[in-house]
Order: sequence, then C-alpha cells, then structure tokens
Amino acid sequence: MEKECIFCNIVNGKTDTRFVFEDDQLVVFKDINPHAPVHDLIVPRRHIRSINDMTDADQGLVAHMLAVGRDVAREREINASGYKLVFNVEWGGGQRIFHLHMHLLGGWKK
Ligand code: AMP
Ligand code: ZN
Repeated sequence: MEKECIFCNIVNGKTDTRFVFEDDQLVVFKDINPHAPVHDLIVPRRHIRSINDMTDADQGLVAHMLAVGRDVAREREINASGYKLVFNVEWGGGQRIFHLHMHLLGGWKK
C-alpha cells in the first residue's frame, strides 16, 4: 500500500466510499466527478501505478477487471445500449491518479 495514494486509502476502507462491487482482487465504486450517466471505476486492491507497470503475472488481474466491467455494465443495464472501458495511461494519456484503474462509462441516451 502506498501511503499517499487515494485509491489505496479507498481500497483499504480509510474513506467512506461505498463499493458497488468488491472481491478479493478489486473494488468498484462510482466516480466522484462523473463524465457519463454511469461512471464507475474498477480498481485493483494491489497498488500498480499504471498499465505501463503491468507484468505478465498481472494479465489475469487485468482480464478480471474487464470481466467485472462487463458484469457491472449488465447490472447497471447499460450493456445493450453500450459502454466504454477505458484505461488512461500516464499523464499524457489523461491519468491523474497513479493507481491502476479502469473507467466504465455509459448510459447516454440516443
Ligand atoms: P484518471 O484521470 O484516469 O486518473 O481518473 C481518475 C478518476 O478518479 C477521475 O475520474 C476522478 O473523478 C476520480 N476520483 C478522484 N477521487 C475520487 C474519489 N475520492 N472517489 C471516486 N472517484 C474519484
Ligand atoms: Zn494505490
């Protein structure tokens, strides 16, 4: 756990963030500043800085993040209309919190 990492603090229950879903590998919670009608963050419990720091051993974790994103999209009933699963990578890629996370964005009307 990184001391000054906001997502480590959230994962470790140091904030009052409510989890939409959690398991032994990751947690899911609503983005505080949503960019879509549905905007959730899928966040591994383990501190990994970004996709750049993903190792071969993390491939199962990242595949699991995608599967959970799919499942949460279905639960939120945005699977049929469609959604985005996005990783921002480092500063130039729009990443501002350097603890790996995937955005689930959807729910736009036609
Ligand atoms: P990124 O730009 O990919 O690093 O995304 C970080 C996201 O975390 C942004 O969309 C923020 O709105 C979101 N965020 C920051 N702090 C919190 C928080 N305490 N709870 C929920 N979402 C947060
Ligand atoms: Zn962290």
